Amino acid sequence: MSRKVLEDILTPQLQELREKGLYNVIDTVEGPNGPIVTINGKDVINMSSNNYLGLANNEKLIQKANEATKQYGVGAGAVRTINGTMTIHNELEKRIAEFKHTEAAIAFQSGFNCNMGAISAVMTKKDAIISDELNHASIIDGCRLSGAKIIRVKHQDMDDLRRAAKEAVESGAYEKIMYITDGVFSMDGDVAKLPEIVEIAEEYGLLTYVDDAHGSGVMGNGAGTVKHFGLSDQIDFQIGTLSKAIGVVGGYVAGTQQLIDWLKVRARPFLFSTSLTPGAAAACIEAINIMTESTERVDQLWENGRYLKEGLINLGFDIGHSETPITPCIIGEETLTQQLSRRLMEEGVYAKAITYPTVPKGTGRVRNMPTAAHTKEMLDQVLAVYEKVGKELGVIQV
Ligand SMILES: *Cc1c(COP(=O)(O)O)cnc(C)c1O
Repeated sequence: MSRKVLEDILTPQLQELREKGLYNVIDTVEGPNGPIVTINGKDVINMSSNNYLGLANNEKLIQKANEATKQYGVGAGAVRTINGTMTIHNELEKRIAEFKHTEAAIAFQSGFNCNMGAISAVMTKKDAIISDELNHASIIDGCRLSGAKIIRVKHQDMDDLRRAAKEAVESGAYEKIMYITDGVFSMDGDVAKLPEIVEIAEEYGLLTYVDDAHGSGVMGNGAGTVKHFGLSDQIDFQIGTLSKAIGVVGGYVAGTQQLIDWLKVRARPFLFSTSLTPGAAAACIEAINIMTESTERVDQLWENGRYLKEGLINLGFDIGHSETPITPCIIGEETLTQQLSRRLMEEGVYAKAITYPTVPKGTGRVRNMPTAAHTKEMLDQVLAVYEKVGKELGVIQV
C-alpha cells in the first residue's frame, strides 16, 4: 500500500527531471581521486575534485590512517559525548586550534554537520542572520534550522550588508544579529571581503561566522581566509572542512574556548552522531603536519591555478573574477555549457558543467579545480583540449 503511494509520488517527479535533462547521472570514479581519474574505464585529467593539495591519496596520510585503525579500531563506537571521544580526537582538535591560531576547536563528522550544529547552537528565533545570497546550501539549512530570521543580502555587496545591518539593528526586533558568509565562494572562486565585514560587524555589533570550506588548505598558507587577512581573533566562528584540501572527511569550528565549550554541549551532531573514525582523525592530523612543515603544496596549488587561468584567458575564455585557484569558464547558455563539458570529457578532460539552479540562469560555467598534484604537462593538455573544443563549439574565436 505505502509502496504504491510513494511510487505515485516519485514517478512523475523523476520523469519531469529526466525530460528536462535535469536528472543528474552520477559518475563513478574507479580508483583514487587523483589528478588523473578512471571513469567508465577511461583515464581522464581530473579538473573536478576538491582535493586541492593532492592529500586524498597521500601515502603518509594513508599510513597514519592505517596505524590509527590498528590502534583504535575502525569506528569510534559512540557519539563524542558518551564515550566516542578518543585521544586521537582531542589531538586533532588541539592541532586544528594551533593551526588556525584560535584558543580551541571542535571537530564534526563533516562540514555540513558543522553548519547544522554550530548556527543553531547559538542563534534562535529571537535573532536575525544576515546571509550572502550565494552562501553554501549547508549554511542556508543551518540558518533555517536555527529558526532565526534570515536576511539575504546581495553577493559581496558591502553597501547592502551595511544597509541590512542598520535596518536590523534599528528595528529593535532581534536579540542578536549575525553575519554569515563563505570564506571562498566555490562557484566563482571569489574571496569574502573580511576586513570590511569586520568593520561593519563592529559598527553594528554583529556576530561573525565564516565558513571557509574552500579556503582552508588554500588561503593563508593553508590556515584559511581569516588567517590570510590576519583577523583570527576578530571572527567569532571559523568553520572549516577536513574533506576538501585536507583530503579526508570531517569539519570543524575554531574559536574561543568558551564558544567551543558551548558547542560541546549544544551542537546536536556532536551530541547525537558518532564521532569521526580514528583513521580519519589521524589522517587529518598528518595533513595539518604536512601543511605546517612546508608551504610547498599550497604554493604549487596557486602556481597551477595561475598557469591554468593565464592559459584560458589567452585562449579567449571568460574566467569571471576568481581570486583563487577555482577557475570557472563562463559560457552562459545552459545547453552549450553542458555540451562543452561533454566534449571535454570525450577528449579526456573531466570538468563539470555547473548550471541553473546551482548558479543563476544564463551564467552556466564549466568549473576547473586545479590541484597541487597536477603537472604542467597535464595542464597543457587541458588547455589544448579547451582550445580544440572551444573553437569547435564556437565558444572562442578560431
Ligand atoms: C563543501 C562545503 C561544505 C560541506 O563540507 P563537507 O565537509 O563536505 O560536508 C560546507 N560549506 C561550504 C561552504 C562548502 O563548500
